[in-house]
Amino acid sequence: MNGGKLSDKEQLRYSRHIMLDQVGETGQLTLKQSHIIIVGVGGLGCAAAQYLAAAGVGRLTLIDHDRVERSNLHRQILFKVNHLGKSKAQVAANQLLAANPDIAIEAIDKSVLKVDLSPLLASKPMILDCTDNSDSRYFINQLCVKHGLKLVSAAAINGQGHLLSFDLSNEQSPCYACLYPEPVNLPQNCSTAGVLGPLLGVMGSLQATEAIRLLLGKTEHLGKLTMFDAWQMSFNAFQLNKASDCPRCSK
Ligand SMILES: [Zn+2]
Repeated sequence: MNGGKLSDKEQLRYSRHIMLDQVGETGQLTLKQSHIIIVGVGGLGCAAAQYLAAAGVGRLTLIDHDRVERSNLHRQILFKVNHLGKSKAQVAANQLLAANPDIAIEAIDKSVLKVDLSPLLASKPMILDCTDNSDSRYFINQLCVKHGLKLVSAAAINGQGHLLSFDLSNEQSPCYACLYPEPVNLPQNCSTAGVLGPLLGVMGSLQATEAIRLLLGKTEHLGKLTMFDAWQMSFNAFQLNKASDCPRCSK
C-alpha cells in the first residue's frame, strides 16, 4: 500500500468521490491514511463498515465477540444464512475485504471490554460506537476521553435512532456521559425490544457519513445529538453542553 499518493486503480475506484469539491484527491488520500475502530458489528456496524471500506478508509478494526444468529439477519446485512454460528467480526472482515482488497482490515473476535486496545491507539484512530449495551458505551466513551479520540456513536431502537459525535481531544467537548450520566433503563437493545431493520442502515450510514466528514475536517456536527424518527420520517438536532459535574469527563 502506497500511503503517499493514489494509484491509477485507486483514482478510478474513488473517482466519484474525488470529483467532489469536498473530497478531491487530497481528501481521498486522507481517508486512505486513516484508521477507524468499529466496535460492534451488528446492524449499525454492518452498514457503517461497508461504506467506510468501500470509501477506501485505509485501516479498519472490527471488534465483536458475537456469533451470527438467525434473528440478526433482518438487519445485519453483511451476514448470510451460511454464516450462522460464525464470528461476526471475522465474517464481516472477509466480506469487506472481498469488496475492497486494497485496505487493511483486522477482526478482533472478543468483547471490547476484554481487549487490550492500547496497541491500536498509537494511530489516534476514530472510534465508532456501534454497540447495543451500556457497559460497552461507557467503556468506549471513557477510552475516548482518556486518549483524546473522536467518537461517533449511534443507537437504534423500535423506530428511533440517535447519532452523536464528539472530539474528545477538546477539553470543552461534552461526552456521552454528559448526555446520559446513568445507564438508560428502558428496553435497551434490539435483543430485548424490536427494531425496524432499515433503521440500522440509516443510522449506520449516518455514522459512516459523519466519520468521513470528520476525517475531511467538517466539524459542524461535533457535540450535537441528531434524532431520527422512522415512523414520522423526521430529523431533529440538538446542541449538547458539557456537564460541569460529569463523572466521566470533568476534572
Ligand atoms: Zn462528560
